[in-house]
Amino acid sequence: MVSKRLTRVEESATMKMGSIAKKLQAEGKSVLNFSLGEPDFKTPGHICEAAKRALDFGYTHYVSSAGVDELREAIAGKIREENEVDVSAENVIVTPGAKQAIYELMMSVLDDGDEVILLDPAWVTFESAVKLAGGNPKWVKRLEEEVNYESLESAVSENTKLIVINSPNNPAGYVLSETEQKEIAEFAVDHDLLVLSDEIYEKIIYGRKHVSIASFDGMQARTVIINGFSKTYAMTGWRIGYAVAPAEILKGMLKIQQHSVSCAPSIAQSAALTALSSPQDCVNEMVEQFKRRRDVIVKRLNEIGLRCLNPEGAFYAFVNTSNHGNDVEFTERLLKEAYIVVTPGSAFGLAGKNYVRFSFAASIEDILEGMGRIEKLYG
Ligand code: GLU
Repeated sequence: MVSKRLTRVEESATMKMGSIAKKLQAEGKSVLNFSLGEPDFKTPGHICEAAKRALDFGYTHYVSSAGVDELREAIAGKIREENEVDVSAENVIVTPGAKQAIYELMMSVLDDGDEVILLDPAWVTFESAVKLAGGNPKWVKRLEEEVNYESLESAVSENTKLIVINSPNNPAGYVLSETEQKEIAEFAVDHDLLVLSDEIYEKIIYGRKHVSIASFDGMQARTVIINGFSKTYAMTGWRIGYAVAPAEILKGMLKIQQHSVSCAPSIAQSAALTALSSPQDCVNEMVEQFKRRRDVIVKRLNEIGLRCLNPEGAFYAFVNTSNHGNDVEFTERLLKEAYIVVTPGSAFGLAGKNYVRFSFAASIEDILEGMGRIEKLYG
């Protein structure tokens, strides 16, 4: 009954593990949920107030498909100022979640059989969006080893159209070094490729500086920045993301938006405008807390003898399970014997086979309790 296209795509592993956790919680089990990458903080009060005002003003109808003008202006201003890319509101499309922007981009630029270079491991939606659009992913490992011109060369062909990068990274927590980004940029220019730069974790970064690849020479015309409000402002349920793209690509994405979701929610766009144009203390406070959690989880994992890369950004610890079986076995044991929910690394690509992803967007108490339960199993 279903299309051949759909049979190439798996259910989202991150969403699936999140549902398992919620189901167990509803059954009254003492579940510790380290699966979904979702800030556990409340959306800051001033952002919620803006949404209430929008409701009171009756701001409850369709808005223009590319997004509300003021919000597009504010996003363009943010990108100019913080990311040093000279864009205007015309380059911005506001989407219901960053995922929709990814999907629209793939549908806009890929033809059947086009190839897309993904860094392995990569967040699950990139691979699926490529496949849904008829493309084929080609993987280049980037876990403990940096990516460079040569490693990218091994994956390129005459069908390659796009490279996807995501820094700070989900699921591995790394931040691409400036040298790596320079090599990727040079490679993209030499091979005339587009780059999707998913920068949704740009603010959740510990002691490093986020640099957008779009700010490098010659890159603006071939880069699509994707970002959103979910992680930075704890607004996952509001579904507000955006893309900043060269005009022609943006036009394509807009067509898909018009024919699929019409526009991003009007009320959430009002809230997003307030988020962007208000003081950013709430973001700094949340990042401070993520950093504390990062320090606690990494320390405890090491004490238990579970090796993980030190996350430099985002809120994921990517933990090596090889001493205790593969990622699926490890995930199942944690679930069955300790009611701990994590995401198996192989869902993110071959490189993740003996890794599991812990989202530390959870309270310190939950992290400590979880590590205690794991220590009983493996310590
Ligand atoms: N991006 C988050 C994660 O990787 C949320 C779930 C999703 O969007 O897939 O867990």
